[in-house]
This record gives sequence, C-alpha cells and structure tokens, in this order.
Amino acid sequence: MKFIIATNNPQKLIELERILSPLGINAVSPKDEGICLEDVEENGSTFMENSFIKADAACKKTGLPAIADDSGICVDALNGEPGIYSARFAGENATDIDKNNLILKRLENTPESDRGAHYTCAVTCVFPNGDKIQVEGKCFGRIAYEPDGDGGFGYDPIFLYNGVSFGKVSADEKDKVSHRGNALRMFKAELVKYLEENNVNK
Ligand code: IMP
Repeated sequence: MKFIIATNNPQKLIELERILSPLGINAVSPKDEGICLEDVEENGSTFMENSFIKADAACKKTGLPAIADDSGICVDALNGEPGIYSARFAGENATDIDKNNLILKRLENTPESDRGAHYTCAVTCVFPNGDKIQVEGKCFGRIAYEPDGDGGFGYDPIFLYNGVSFGKVSADEKDKVSHRGNALRMFKAELVKYLEENNVNK
C-alpha cells in the first residue's frame, strides 16, 4: 500500500520511510506523485490544524492516504511564541542563527526560573474515506543563555533538555526524547491499530 508524505523535506521523508516500511507501506513524496503542495496555505491556528491542512490537501490531490507533520518551539516567557510561526520567526530570510539570537535577545532579562520552553510535533494521517489519525508529541526543556553545539537544526543549540543542549546530543539520543520521536512512536502504534481494525491490505 502506498502513502504520500506531504513534505518537501527529504529528512522527514526518510524518517517516515523508516517507520512505514516495516509495516509494508511504500512512502512516496509529492514529487514522486507529480504534485505540488507549495500553494497549500498553512492557515490553521494550531500545529494539529496545520498538519491536517497539509495531509488533507495531499490526500485530495492524489487519492492516497497522506501523512503530514507540523512542528515548532513554544517559549513560556514569550507567551508561547514563536509556536506555529517557528519557521518564519525573525523574517522570511532569517537563518537559524538569527532566529536563535532573537529568542536569546528577547529573554535577555529573563531569569533561569522563567526560561521554560517546549517543542511540539503534530502528525496527521488522512485516508481517502475521510478517516484520520492525529497525534501530538512534546518535549519540555529550557532556553539556554547562549548557543551550545552545532548538532541538530533550528533551535536545538539553545534548547536544553535535562540541562544539555540538543545541539550537543546525537540524532539517536534526541530521537528517544524529542517531540518528533514521541509523536512518530505514538503515530506508529495508532497506525498499526487502524490497519488491523480495518483489515487494510498492505
Ligand atoms: P516545520 O514543522 O517543518 O514547519 O518546522 C517548523 C520549524 O520549527 C523549523 O523550521 C524549526 O525552526 C523549528 N523546529 C521544529 N522541530 C525542531 C527540532 O527538532 N529542532 C529545532 N528546531 C525545530
């Protein structure tokens, strides 16, 4: 059975392929199916809504079950910002370094006790009959006083999990505790249950 992964990010495709192939599922990209999702407007107000919008568009365009995720970081002292705007925070052309510096600047006078933050990752799978599976994984930590390490991506160098920067841990270590790792483990369990309950041919 074929599923489309509604992303243009090759890393996300690889990650989902790893989860889906043991279930006998063939994960394909928008490019493989000759569709473009650039015009899909992510105008939801939550991570979950945005993951649904992307998955639903891919399912409608191809007739295939479709999976999409949406993720970001929420900083307590910034009232949950940047949240769903994590990718575009600090402007369209800002680099990860610019985005991290902007958060550090805005937390300049914020004491240790108020530097809590969490990552969220929402995953939605939409089936052509309208059924859907939705899960959300979180990872709680704190914002550092300065970047540390160059591993991971995005906000990882300023995100401390158990006091250690995500920029300093291996991908495997991060997967075990990260919002995305947690969401994908939940998603896999829900998908296995759904396929069994619905006698879906693999
Ligand atoms: P999207 O889910 O691809 O739209 O990503 C949203 C943005 O959230 C990314 O561009 C990153 O800035 C940030 N983000 C999401 N997950 C992570 C992570 O695991 N580490 C660091 N930044 C992340």
